[in-house]
Parts: sequence; structure tokens; C-alpha cells
Amino acid sequence: MQSITIRCGIDERLDCSLLESAREEVAAYPPERVLIQVYYCVPDTGAIETVLGRLSGMFPGCPVIGANANGGILNGQSFDGAIIVNFSLFESTAVKTVLITQNKDMGKAGLETAAALADPSLRAVIAFGCGIRDQVYLDNGLYLKSLSGALNGVPVSGGLAGAESGGRFSSFVFSERGLTQSGFAAAALSGPELRVFGDFDIDWIPVGKRMTITGMRGRRVFSIDDRPVTDLYRQYLGIASNLVSVDLINRFPLMRNRHGVDLTDLVSVVHEDGSVDFIQKLNIGEQVRFGICDAGLQEDGVRRVNRSLRAFRPDGVFYFACPSRRMVFGETIDADMATLIDMPASCGIYTFGEFHADGSGEPLFFHQAMSVLAVAEGTVAPDPGSPASSAAITAGIGDSDKYVQSKALIHLTMSITRELEETNRRLTEMAHTDGLTGLGNRRKFDDNLDRAIKTHARSGTSFALIMLDVDHFKLFNDLYGHVDGDDCLRSLGHVLREALHRAGDFAFRYGGEEFACILSPASASDAAVVAERIRSRVETVGIPHRGSPTREVVTISIGALLVDAGKGTLPSRVVEECDALLYEAKKAGRNRVVCRGTKRTG
Ligand code: GH3
Ligand code: MG
Ligand code: MG
Repeated sequence: MQSITIRCGIDERLDCSLLESAREEVAAYPPERVLIQVYYCVPDTGAIETVLGRLSGMFPGCPVIGANANGGILNGQSFDGAIIVNFSLFESTAVKTVLITQNKDMGKAGLETAAALADPSLRAVIAFGCGIRDQVYLDNGLYLKSLSGALNGVPVSGGLAGAESGGRFSSFVFSERGLTQSGFAAAALSGPELRVFGDFDIDWIPVGKRMTITGMRGRRVFSIDDRPVTDLYRQYLGIASNLVSVDLINRFPLMRNRHGVDLTDLVSVVHEDGSVDFIQKLNIGEQVRFGICDAGLQEDGVRRVNRSLRAFRPDGVFYFACPSRRMVFGETIDADMATLIDMPASCGIYTFGEFHADGSGEPLFFHQAMSVLAVAEGTVAPDPGSPASSAAITAGIGDSDKYVQSKALIHLTMSITRELEETNRRLTEMAHTDGLTGLGNRRKFDDNLDRAIKTHARSGTSFALIMLDVDHFKLFNDLYGHVDGDDCLRSLGHVLREALHRAGDFAFRYGGEEFACILSPASASDAAVVAERIRSRVETVGIPHRGSPTREVVTISIGALLVDAGKGTLPSRVVEECDALLYEAKKAGRNRVVCRGTKRTG
């Protein structure tokens, strides 16, 4: 496989003499063995129509794929305001393209792309999409998911087209068949001898506490931890409210763990009420943290990708990266691409959202990342020992680090975050544990009961609540003293723990000498059997209680309630009802179980 790369400034349009220089070499290959990638770094379609016309005249039948972009990448350098043309000339690989001219139905667009490119020896797909319609980001994740699903794990790389200049933004993609501002262009590389390596890099690190999405509609998030989103930025970043802009938020983006990878979520609009529109849809209850990144981390990530690429020994590398990487690197942006300088021909663009799928996990449509596709023909064995794609970053200072100060700061922040998380975890555990028995406490009981009601109301299944109370415990304390009383309660805690076997069964100290168990899920007979097991075991343990009118050992009375929860079921009513059964057990002579189902389903 060979490559020819040509770059021209926009003002020159496309210099035909430059293309001329490639003509002879390209003509030596059948058209279907040629892939022409064209990247155009402005928002208007103007020159591109001319370019496509010239390409089809000079290289008849050759497949073309391209997009406009906020910057191009060519042989280890990044460019603005240029047209980049890259010819990949394959010895045995067939190239096919498709242009999908709709992005209203993303799932369908993905399936159409896959169907058009299907080939028994399909090895890789490069896809570009128009990301934004009427100023609104489209659900490109859905396109990628359906495309990748239909391709059965064939690697997909690429991203969203788009360029901005003078306040104007537009995105368009094209193939040799034409151009669309609302659709997708994709190219397939097929051939049994084509080797492919896909990788990605995301160098952002989540720090600080986990916060929960509490209010949202569509992609607009109103509140996180019940506070307007901009309030969080004011508090944690120390920024005056009028300065909380899209740009600022995206420099410290919120991160979510999606499919096991920590990914950033970018914002497209900041509203006056402190709510913000996210590019991708978040969900109520999802957790987010602030993300940070610096040039040092990004450089580490690039080095890692570089190592994997070298081990693969590519003939060509295609590279799709978020423009924010340039922001992170600042003046030293070429560090981002330096890794590619000594690679065989490489080209790519800065995308508004990157595609990466390689069949090894969920397809990723992500931001502030880069997706890399490397190809090679022939049977050269790749170097063994190269690590598979991994986005895990561990900031650490090496000998030759340029970015010592900011990397150390990030390392410090990560260490503090980790310690705080551990402290928080321990505090939360303590706040939910009863000190005497080690069982869950009343607060934990309330949480679990709430959750059980919601879960079972949704699934239409039932669970059981068991409440139990020690018989004549006042007399026990009077006779043996409080220290022995405490010991007795500890023993009962132990009996309860031992009596519950299933993963969804938990015991709690409800208060004083009362305990509760939640069995989730449970049938009526589960409730009765477990309640009776607890009662008889307590009796069998045989803690002496000479003062008890019931028996000469400690006994308990139990109310067991099978709950068929509905939407309006109140936890307090469930407890009341179970308590009434417990009272019945006491009245009927103690040391017994009264078991029943809920009267109402709410
Ligand atoms: P009944 O069979 O009707 O339940 O009679 P009872 O004596 O068990 O009920 P009552 O509510 O009159 O008394 C409960 C006693 O439990 C009183 C209180 O001192 C004792 N108690 C509650 N919490 C603790 C504790 O943490 N340690 C000890 N030692 N005793 C406790
Ligand atoms: Mg009591
Ligand atoms: Mg009692």
C-alpha cells in the first residue's frame, strides 16, 4: 500500500498541478483499489464542488470520501484553512463508499450504511456524519451503534464533520457521488490481506465528588445535586456567574462512566436560569464528576497510542481528533501529532465528536478524544507485546517530563480525590450501620424499604417485610442489667444474619429492641418460612430470661407482611400494617408469628 498526500491553501482553491503530480501514480492502480480522502477546513461548500468535479475528471471511478472540519491533520502536522487530499493506493484491498442523505432516522442511517458496505472480507469502515441540524446536535451515538451492530464488530473510525468561521457553522460530508449537509459518508476497506488496528485515546480524568443529575428535560439539564448546573461551576471553580460560558464548562467538562470508560460530556448552550444543554443525552440519577486534563496527560496518551501504532507497523494512519486537544496543548499542538511524523502517511481531521468501534466493547461516540485507524497490507506480523487499546491514564512524573508542574497538580488532585472517596465510603457505611449489632440501621432500613417498594411496583412482583420485637425485654433489663441486655441484642443480630440466606434478604435494627427484615423478592410462603425460622432459632439459642411470663428463655414476636406494592404505596403505611401484625402476635400470647399479605395495593 502506498500513500500520496497533497495540501493546498483555500485561497488557491485546489491547485491542479499538485493533483497532476499524483495522476500517473494513481493511474497505475484500478480505481476500486484507490481511496481518496478529502478534508476541507471551511464552513461553505463553495470550492468543494469544484474539487469533486476535478477529482472525478482526473481520477475517474476512484472512490472519494470527505468532510469539512475545524482543522486538518497531515503527516504529523495540523492545519487550518486548507484542503487536504490523501490518496491511499492498495495492492489488494477493495474500496467502496456510500453517501446517506438523511439524518432524521439515525438508526436507519446506520443500517443503510452497513448494508451498502457489506462484504464478506470487510475489514474497516471510515464514517463521517453531519452532526448538527438547526443548531441542535443529533444523536450520532445511535447511528454508530446501529452501524457497528450491523457490521458485527468490524472496526469503525471517524467522526462528525463541521467547521466554523466568522460565527458561521456548518457541516457537510461527501463522496464521489455528491455532497450532503444532512447525512453520512462512509468508506469500506475490504480484502483478506488488509490488517487493521483501531485505537482511541481519552486523557481526561474525573476528580472531586460524584454528583447526581436531579432535574432534566431532553438534553437540557436543570439541576445536579438539586442545584443549577452553573452554580456548581461557580462554587467549585470559583468563577463569577456571568463568566460561566460554554467554553469554560467544556474546559472542565462533566464526566460520566459509560460502558466502563470515563468519558466527557460536552455542553452546547448555557441558559440564563443556570441550566445547560448537553450534546449527548444524560439520564436522571446518573452520576457525574468534574473532568480535568492537561498537556502532560495528553502527551502520555499520545505516546501510548504511538507505541501501539509502531507495534502494528501501519502503511497508513487515519486520525480523527477533537479540536479541544489543540486547546489543551495550546501553543504546542504539534505534540499531539508529533507521534505521527515518523509514521507512514497519516491524515485526518478535527471532528466534533469522534466515532470508535472495534467490536471489543460498546461502540463509543465521544468527545475530547481521538480515534485512530491504522491499516497495512500483507502479512508482516505485528510486534507482539503491544498493549490493547486502553484509555486508562495514570498520571505520574517521569524523568523527561516537560509538564512537571501541571502533571504534579493533577496527580495531587487525583490522590486527594481517591482519599476523599475512601473516607466518604467509610462515613456512608458508618452512617448506615447500627453500632451495637452491626446490622443496617433505621436510615438504611428506610432507604431499602423505599427502593423495594419502587422496584416491585415497577416489576409487579412482591416482597416481604418482617418486623420483630423482643418479648418482655424491659423485665430482662430489670433482672440482668443493661450490659446483658446489650449482649442479648447483639446475639439476636447474629441470629438474624444467620437466618437470612438469599442475596436480596437484609436485616436491620429498627430501634430499641425491635428489628426488621426485608426479603426482596419474596412469596407468601417465603415470608412465613423465614419468619418462623427466625422465631424458632431465637428460642433455640436459649438466652435465659427467668423474668419472662412467656418462657424461661428470650423469645420474640413477629409480624410478617407480604407486600404487593403499587405506584402509590407509602413506606409508612407498609410499616404500620406490619406493626399491626406484630401487635397481634403480642396480643395472642407472644413468641409467635402472624403473617399476612397487604390489604391494599396502593
Ligand atoms: P413487650 O413484650 O410488650 O415487647 O414488652 P417489652 O418489655 O419488651 O416492651 P417495652 O417497650 O415496655 O420495653 C422495651 C425495653 O427495651 C425497654 C428498654 O429499656 C429496652 N431497650 C431498648 N433499647 C435497648 C438497648 O439498646 N439496650 C438495652 N439493654 N435495652 C434496650
Ligand atoms: Mg418494643
Ligand atoms: Mg419488646
